[in-house]
Order: sequence, then C-alpha cells, then structure tokens
Amino acid sequence: MKLFAATAMIVCTLTSTGAFAQSTEVFPAGSRPSAQGPDATFTGSVIVDTLYMNDEHTGNSGHLVNFEPGARSAWHTHPAGQVLIVTSGAGWVQDEGGEKRHIKPGDVVWTPPGVKHWHGATDTTRVSHIAVTNVRDAKAVDWMEKVTDEQYLD
Ligand code: MN
Repeated sequence: MKLFAATAMIVCTLTSTGAFAQSTEVFPAGSRPSAQGPDATFTGSVIVDTLYMNDEHTGNSGHLVNFEPGARSAWHTHPAGQVLIVTSGAGWVQDEGGEKRHIKPGDVVWTPPGVKHWHGATDTTRVSHIAVTNVRDAKAVDWMEKVTDEQYLD
C-alpha cells in the first residue's frame, strides 16, 4: 500500500509513544495529508484521507475515501473483509457476477473475505465512504484489473 506509506509513517510516529500507552490518544483532524488514489488501482478522481492505521492492538485500518462522479476502485478482494460506511453523496457497489447496487449516506456495506468487488461514485454523483478494512498477515487488499467503462455503466 505504497499510497499510504507517508501517512502511515505519520500515524506510526504519533502512536510510537506508544506500545504501552495508557491513555487515550487524539489524532487531530487535518494532521495527516490527503492522498490521491493511484491510477493503477482507481479510475477517475479519488482522494483518500487516512483516519488510522492498524497496529498491534487494532486489526483494521480506517480511511475516508472521496470519489468524484465516474470514479471507482479497481476490482479487488479483501483477505479479511471490509466494512464501508457511506457518509455523503450517492454511489455504487458491485460483487463479481452480482447486480450493481446503489449506496447512500447511512448505508453500511460488509464485503466478506475473498469476495471480488468494486465500489465508487455513480456516473453523475460523487460519493464518500469510510472504509474499515480488516488486515490479515499485514495485507488489507488484493488489487485486480480495473473496472471498464462498459462494466461500470452496465
Ligand atoms: Mn473494497
């Protein structure tokens, strides 16, 4: 997850106080830079804000992902599953071989381990979701081919 290397470093620095910390930590909004979703794994304009990274105590990471109209992830699976919490806009999610489904603010989406899927904006509206991604053996996602325009608009 090269994309998140810089932000992960910052989070690690913040938490390194750390391994035996006995108090609640607050990571202020705006303390971590936004990152652009890379072309290899996203289509269109995608901005990713790291909320927190997994560590020895937390088996998942949290990211706020903002998709502009037409933007979407590539096909992918999560070795230990993923929860999406839609926070604004309107988007789509689709499992391989399944129907494209609308997602809207307040919707919670659970993708089980190993299920091939994509998620993103609709062709006319932006969407933002928080992704809580479980990590297994230091891996959160297995990226695959990009979602073609034909697949996306089907
Ligand atoms: Mn996913």
